[in-house]
Amino acid sequence: MDRKYRVVFLSLIEGEDTFKENMTRLGVPPETAQTIIQRAPVILKRDMPLAEARHYAEAVQSAGGRVRIQDDGLTEEGQRNFKQIEVMPMDHFTRCVRCGYMQLKKPRCERCGHHLD
Ligand SMILES: [Zn+2]
Repeated sequence: MDRKYRVVFLSLIEGEDTFKENMTRLGVPPETAQTIIQRAPVILKRDMPLAEARHYAEAVQSAGGRVRIQDDGLTEEGQRNFKQIEVMPMDHFTRCVRCGYMQLKKPRCERCGHHLD
């Protein structure tokens, strides 16, 4: 059987406002982002294959959150279980090769203007 993984939000890397703004771009409403911050550490999403968990973690990390990928078979370690947050599917995202910015697919990088396709 394939192992399943979950992504846990630990804390903010950047400011709260930056995080909320970036999460909005990932399809997560600011109120939800606020709740994530308040309840941390919190499980954002579970039951994913490792590759998907990595993409998910990367997206949240690039939004300014410190996250950890855990084996979903492990015990909870006292972590609260957030209702799963539906971030946009990862194939909607692309990472700019020039500046490394993770964003929804579009013709040009939102941060540096580099052509993305
Ligand atoms: Zn860029």
